[in-house]
Amino acid sequence: MTSELFNLKGKVAIVTGGNGGIGLGMARGLADAGADIAVVGRNEEKSKAAVAEIAKRGVRAIAVATDVTDKAAVGRMVGRVKEELGRIDILVNNAGINIRKPPHALELEEWESVIDTNLTSAFLCSKAVYPAMKEAGGGKVINIGSMMSIFGASFAPAYAASKGGIVQFTRACACAWAADNIQANAILPGWIDTDLTKRARVEVGGLHERVLARTPAARWGEIADFAGIAVFLASSASDFVTGTAIPVDGGFSIMG
Ligand code: NDP
Repeated sequence: MTSELFNLKGKVAIVTGGNGGIGLGMARGLADAGADIAVVGRNEEKSKAAVAEIAKRGVRAIAVATDVTDKAAVGRMVGRVKEELGRIDILVNNAGINIRKPPHALELEEWESVIDTNLTSAFLCSKAVYPAMKEAGGGKVINIGSMMSIFGASFAPAYAASKGGIVQFTRACACAWAADNIQANAILPGWIDTDLTKRARVEVGGLHERVLARTPAARWGEIADFAGIAVFLASSASDFVTGTAIPVDGGFSIMG
């Protein structure tokens, strides 16, 4: 019974940014639960390596080179996944970037690049998969927010706006698509050790120590910490869970 609740055999998942970091951690978890995986990213070498590793888990895995800010490319990507893997049940909107500058130093092009990559991409991908999910009789959309969905930071004007926006976008999809049996939820990672934050540790003085001091779990998160939440939100175990934003942060967001 328990294993059936979390069983993803026969399901197909698209994971944007699935070739590294948190996206790869979630893709591994979904594959271990039986889902076939489409890894979406721009770096074809990284995607090839991720697909080879995921396929060893006994599922089908394909890489679809796509810039998720490009509407036409997103349409082609969704078409290819349907054609090669047959259906789409799960979409993980995980691709993201940050440009760390205060608002007065951020250029319009930089603002647009962060909003397009982190927020508009989720809209484009969700809209593009909706017909396939509806056709399949339901689906799961999992959007990746951040502690910046809740808090502010002087160095994250566009990033915080995009991550606050992703929570509200998630709620809108949850309301709009409940009748189609599509659940939409957000995950809010705390500070996780990835390429993205390796740079942050260099750019933001004292960050490493502050994260350790404020996190009750007293460590940075690892990409493996995202396998379980991804499986929960992608499986029938979460069929009555929609529109939420779940922190996966070792307690960072509840530390007084
Ligand atoms: P990484 O830099 O390791 O991964 C980012 C991923 O996004 C890469 O796989 C990259 O692939 C992909 N990506 C970026 N831009 C595009 C694009 N235009 N089109 C397609 N793919 C793109 O970062 P993380 O794993 O840390 O971040 C993953 C998500 O988690 C992001 O949304 C981030 O904001 C969020 N997050 C991370 C936290 C952390 O502490 N690490 C904390 C809170 C949130 P490629 O380069 O091949 O395109």
